[in-house]
Amino acid sequence: MDDLSVSLTGPGSNTSENVDVCDTTADVDTNRDSSLSMDDDDDLAASACEICKSAITRRCAKVRRYGRLRSPDCVWNLGEEWLRGGARAGCRDCGLITSILDHFCAIGIEPWRVDLLFGVVSCGNGSPQLKINMIVSNASISLPEELRIFRSTADVPVEPQWSTIVQRSFLLQDTSSEYAFQIVSKWLHDCLQSHDRCSIYKTARLPKRILELTATTVLLRENLNRPAAYACLSHCWGEKGPALRLTSNTIDTLRSGVARAQLPETFKDAVEICDRLGIHFIWIDAMCIVQDNLKDWASTASVMADIYEGAYLTIAATASNDSNGGCFSRLRENFKDVTLGNTGLCARRNLPRFPKRPLHNDTTEWPLLERGWVFQERRLSTRVVHYARDQLFWECGSTFFSACGDQNWTVDQSFGVKNDYSNDMKFDGGDPRNGWRALITLYSKLKFTKSCDRLPALAGVVEREQRRRKDDTYVAGMWKNTLLEDLGFSQYTCYGNTPGIPSWSWACIEDSVNFTDIMYHRNATTELISIDTIPDGPSNMGKVVSASIRLKGPTFSIRAVAYLSTYLEYFLDNGVDQLANFDYNLKGTSEFYDDLDPDAELLLIVMSASIMEISGECTTLVLQRLPTGNFQRLGHGVLRYQRKDLRFLDRNTRDPALRAENMERFLALFTVREVEII
Ligand SMILES: [Zn+2]
Ligand SMILES: [Zn+2]
Repeated sequence: MDDLSVSLTGPGSNTSENVDVCDTTADVDTNRDSSLSMDDDDDLAASACEICKSAITRRCAKVRRYGRLRSPDCVWNLGEEWLRGGARAGCRDCGLITSILDHFCAIGIEPWRVDLLFGVVSCGNGSPQLKINMIVSNASISLPEELRIFRSTADVPVEPQWSTIVQRSFLLQDTSSEYAFQIVSKWLHDCLQSHDRCSIYKTARLPKRILELTATTVLLRENLNRPAAYACLSHCWGEKGPALRLTSNTIDTLRSGVARAQLPETFKDAVEICDRLGIHFIWIDAMCIVQDNLKDWASTASVMADIYEGAYLTIAATASNDSNGGCFSRLRENFKDVTLGNTGLCARRNLPRFPKRPLHNDTTEWPLLERGWVFQERRLSTRVVHYARDQLFWECGSTFFSACGDQNWTVDQSFGVKNDYSNDMKFDGGDPRNGWRALITLYSKLKFTKSCDRLPALAGVVEREQRRRKDDTYVAGMWKNTLLEDLGFSQYTCYGNTPGIPSWSWACIEDSVNFTDIMYHRNATTELISIDTIPDGPSNMGKVVSASIRLKGPTFSIRAVAYLSTYLEYFLDNGVDQLANFDYNLKGTSEFYDDLDPDAELLLIVMSASIMEISGECTTLVLQRLPTGNFQRLGHGVLRYQRKDLRFLDRNTRDPALRAENMERFLALFTVREVEII
């Protein structure tokens, strides 16, 4: 079973100029059912079958009249026989649906069934859009995910019941077309002129190295040290990396200029984009950082935030796997408009939606968005234009736009139901205490060719974060002032420490992590005594020779043998009534358990605790004792306490004295000690 949705759009929607010519040559075979041909004398309202009348005709009328539907959505189960019968009897709605299905679906000989769900959503400009989700079921059917119906052109007459259907919006045919550049220019202009959040970085100085564009060459320029508009390129290096790079061998060649024709395809396209937008400089990492000089690399990485933030525009080669893929693309055939017979209407598949969050899985559509290094390029860039497959996207601090208009979002303006886009990548507001955890949750999903790059690829973001956290210290992916809260990270797959990264940093896990704030209980019971670190290079690069933390708090010693499953009830020797159970919130740990000595000494350290009516609960870190006497972090857990000697705490009175007494009894189970975690 697949979903197919048809949207009949409301009046006054998009009538933008179509500079590129829409494809109107594809046609539906309407000869199969002669009743689809126009019959001028037909009283359509009378001939429309009852279901269609209430489902489509009347609802379209309501949309037109009230701007929205007042009655709740309803589902109609329509069979093939019924629809075809309706079409034969002269119902234009049945005819429309069957002709759409005949065109877009590989309908076999088996009968099929359509479930219709009607709803009204708001178009980007606020006008209503009637959306019809069609779920077509048939054992052998293959369906497109979503379809929308438009009027082909304003001057072709349509049946009266379809008069609310809006004229088709413009669909970009080629992202290198003149119209594509008009779109980008407009986005750029609006961002510079009217976005308060974006325009403050308008006049940045050129980075230390920059490529200057001449009519036929690109020249490496150094230390120009003056304000000028420059672009940055965000791109996938691919397995082999770009054929042309800045190294100690190529630096002289690049200084004297490289012919544009010699540039890798993606760079060449980026240079063309600059030309057509009137930008004379571009910064490309591969050609502006000396690739065989670690020192140069580290010093540039530390100013990465300024380079991306200061860029007039960041050009993202979002659909390209490597530097040979280029930036531009043409609309794929199966996304082009299809004329629906002589109805005056056309149908269109929805274009792939830009992912709201960084991608974790392999996709062929958005290779750039999976790459770890790209995270800070997107995050730090003031404005990014994505050259994606089939279309363009705009991403800045104030807006997100798609050339097709389906995913438009601004900070200041609500788009109602249609505005389901929130740009997690650009959101850095709110409490920095939670912000870092949210950021790492996104970042840790991304892919790295070398896992040792995971911390360095964040250096620019760290540098920016350091400005917000003036008196804070960054060590190996963690911040001192929120270290206790941030220790509650979990991973989805098996445990594995990355060499050189302390076990108390999320970065020791080579996979995506999520966070639980383990300090959420009202009583913080553990304190951070110290962080001891020997950094390896600049601190924002995250590398350390060694790093340890000392915590002091209530602890409880146990043996690993007790933990054979994720959620195991753990009982003390003297019974259920003492420590009731322990949830070990370390997900997917089976492989780890295989390696864990059943006799290993584990230590729970209570991070925060609270007292309920007749029970206590605390969050803990789970530590393993190492032969050296210090500990490594394994995970975190929740421990519940239901000892009978706790006195009943009335939820309404919350007697503080009684609460303190119960807390004291709870914590008496533990021994306060200081531990060193490496
Ligand atoms: Zn009908
Ligand atoms: Zn903007």
